Amino acid sequence: MTLRYVSTRGTAPALSFEDVVLAGLASDGGLYVPETLPTFSMAEIAGMQAMSYPELAYTIISRFTGESIAPESLESMIANSYANFRHAAIAPLKQLDAHTFLLELFHGPTLAFKDFALQFLGRLLDHILAKRGQKAVIVGATSGDTGSAAIAGCLGRENMDIFIMHPHGRVSEVQRRQMTTVAQPNVHNIALEGTFDDCQDMVKNLFADAKFRDEYKLTAVNSINWARILAQVVYYFYAALTLGAPAKSVSFSVPTGNFGDIFAGYIAKRMGLPIEDLIIATNRNDILSRCLATGTYGMEGVVPTISPSMDIQISSNFERLLFDLYGRDGKAIASMMTNFRKDKKLTLAPDVWVALKGEFAASSVNDDDTKKTIAETFEATGELLDPHTAVGLAAGQRCRRDTSAPMVVLATAHPAKFPEAVKDASGITPALPEHLKNLFKLKERFEITPNNMDDIKRFITERV
Ligand SMILES: *Cc1c(COP(=O)(O)O)cnc(C)c1O
Repeated sequence: MTLRYVSTRGTAPALSFEDVVLAGLASDGGLYVPETLPTFSMAEIAGMQAMSYPELAYTIISRFTGESIAPESLESMIANSYANFRHAAIAPLKQLDAHTFLLELFHGPTLAFKDFALQFLGRLLDHILAKRGQKAVIVGATSGDTGSAAIAGCLGRENMDIFIMHPHGRVSEVQRRQMTTVAQPNVHNIALEGTFDDCQDMVKNLFADAKFRDEYKLTAVNSINWARILAQVVYYFYAALTLGAPAKSVSFSVPTGNFGDIFAGYIAKRMGLPIEDLIIATNRNDILSRCLATGTYGMEGVVPTISPSMDIQISSNFERLLFDLYGRDGKAIASMMTNFRKDKKLTLAPDVWVALKGEFAASSVNDDDTKKTIAETFEATGELLDPHTAVGLAAGQRCRRDTSAPMVVLATAHPAKFPEAVKDASGITPALPEHLKNLFKLKERFEITPNNMDDIKRFITERV
């Protein structure tokens, strides 16, 4: 039986895995989720304990691909996706104290956890396009890390061009250079005059233009793409298994922006992985922590912080969670989201709010506490944390309920991606890994563009 995917807004057609990967956003504006979630028994999870990262990834991902992808192709795409990570464990755990562990997700080519999903998604898209004899145009918005990871996943792949919009002047120099120093002709960088949310809206509007979308075969690699969530489910299993799952449960604290990474943790839990606490760690852009605290999901302006990859106003993937919490009622979600667009806020039904607080804890960490956490961790362990990871650690310490369960903090970026903040907090400038040593010498390529749909469309059509 082939697993099908349905939209959170209820009216777009159900699609196969392949079609969902290509579609990104559903045609009714919703996000695709599996019609039924595959689950593992405790015995099956126990059987995963000796698996390498790629073996585990195959075991989990193959449950979601249905008949879409041949097993040998899937196996080799997964192997290739993680072959260029610079640590033999792929996602190693590092112990900070008796109960706290870092899950280092920054050993991929661009030094952030997004490589886990995008190395895979780039190969997957290319495979699907080749099979269909099609070409596609990838459009994406980035607050910093997605862009470089998406570019690294797509560069040189035959069947696609990639256009990445970043908010001009609002990403770190390392992040910008990782995107703009790529020389492959299928890579195009746009510095949009606006915020990350403007970039994200621009992507949404391009997709909403059905004529343009179909003519250029627009495809999204944002965290709304189901394949990204899927690839991220794997490391929750990997970390928990290493720490004794399924006999033991583990807690996770996850630095969160778009609710993608933490949603993957929620999926891992729903698939049967025993997870104790799932902690949403936000910086001052705290729409999610406020929602947990008050039951109202309300937009406020974006405040720039030292953890810029989480400087967002709304968390797109939250819609996937709401879909579950509202009993998978697509009509209800569609009308809530329409109202949210208009009112800039929505109030959860009382029972949904209770359910939300049952699944997650949340805390918002300001820049001062983030720096303090970097300094204290360096003092206590000699480890340098990037600011996003520090937000995760601080929130984990505040929210943990059961101190006997190991707490895994997702280390989402290498400290050298955010050298100024890390130096400011610890006095130490983290060194870039060897393969990026020449980053500041390479020539940059990007175009500064007004926040205007016609200009962006022209930019794309002139280059495809
Ligand atoms: C993207 C990113 C996040 C936030 O991840 P989401 O999936 O958007 O929640 C956190 N930390 C770093 C370093 C990131 O690049």
